[in-house]
Amino acid sequence: MHKEDLETATPDATRARQLDRFNALLDEILPANRFYARKLAGIEPPIDWETFAALPFTTKAELVEDQAAAPPLGTIATYPRERYLTYHQTSGTTGHPLMVLDTRESWDWWIECWQYIYRAAGVTDADRLFLAFSFGPFIGFWAAHAAGLELGAMGIPGGGLDSKARLRMLASAEATVLLSTPTYALRLAEVARQAGIDLSATGVHATIHAGEPGAGIPAVRNRIEEAWGARCFDHSGATEVGAYGYTCAEQTGLHLIESEFIGEVLDPATGQAVPEGDVGELVLTNLGRAGWPVIRYRTGDLVKAGGHDCACGRTFQMLPGGLIGRADDLMVVRGINIYPSSIEAIVRDFDVDEFRIVRTRQQEMEELVVEVEAVADVAEALADAFSERLAVRIPTKVVPADSLPRFELKARRVVDER
Ligand SMILES: [Zn+2]
Repeated sequence: MHKEDLETATPDATRARQLDRFNALLDEILPANRFYARKLAGIEPPIDWETFAALPFTTKAELVEDQAAAPPLGTIATYPRERYLTYHQTSGTTGHPLMVLDTRESWDWWIECWQYIYRAAGVTDADRLFLAFSFGPFIGFWAAHAAGLELGAMGIPGGGLDSKARLRMLASAEATVLLSTPTYALRLAEVARQAGIDLSATGVHATIHAGEPGAGIPAVRNRIEEAWGARCFDHSGATEVGAYGYTCAEQTGLHLIESEFIGEVLDPATGQAVPEGDVGELVLTNLGRAGWPVIRYRTGDLVKAGGHDCACGRTFQMLPGGLIGRADDLMVVRGINIYPSSIEAIVRDFDVDEFRIVRTRQQEMEELVVEVEAVADVAEALADAFSERLAVRIPTKVVPADSLPRFELKARRVVDER
């Protein structure tokens, strides 16, 4: 079936297809994948949805421990190592990086998933993609690059350069699409402004972001779109799971690639599905990566469960607002739940070049201070906006220009001093 048809199939047809593919995956992996043969002992495919909903979860900590206990691959590799083609790794929750390998088939699957992202962003074979990443061991930019080539677009690897050199290369290569973290798109805009470069004259018509939830925050997206004169698209993925979410032209959140993943939004405490409109943890099963599968993988990302009726015509489930935060990012200040993304959503409405959140503890109570590179008036207005929009007073502190760290990959703007 053609991808466009899959994206507009009825939710029932999509679910039926997911279950068929999941059962085919079980047939393929259970005889050979020691990790899941052990976890799913006693399960005999084909299974139904009720059985699926009772399958055990998989966690990152479990994968990391498994690999540490049986180096180098752990027991998660379905096939002998000779079958694997690509090597990537991700930072581990316990400090050990997690190695993740793909076979040719699994790598082709990554490239396939990326086509959904590109198509929804209006990227075609006429485009020139500038990838402003360092091309380290994280999988995202490699998959984006390979998928761009497969589409017939030109891939421009913007690694190993400072921001000014990247901007010069982007302009001289006449790039039409920027791929970067949302933070780095704003950083490039800052450097361009200082150097007197007009980004809206570069011909970039779309920016595609990953690595952080920022592009799903309207205030961040508006700033990026304004600076670049381009449409800003969000995308979500993880090395151990795959590229699973993308923004359509409606820009209201992330569509889940339900042709390649089973997505569940569950109450993190009970493991039960939350009703539409509620926030829960995103749990993913990938259907096309037999060489390195994950089943009911707890991403730790909080999302809002959305519907299947986007104005773009796609029926893939919507996660309104994209990734809301990490379950472990939650800060509770005087009884109010605050995620770093709620702070950023407000900060980006103001003229602030960089900021960070310092968590402290006073008399057993959590307190936050937001440090901003801005003028005093802006800091005061920002503190007022926090009170108004978060219903809690959060002091702001002005720090000198260029004194806060800048980030190319995942920004770390929360400093814990409790
Ligand atoms: Zn849509």
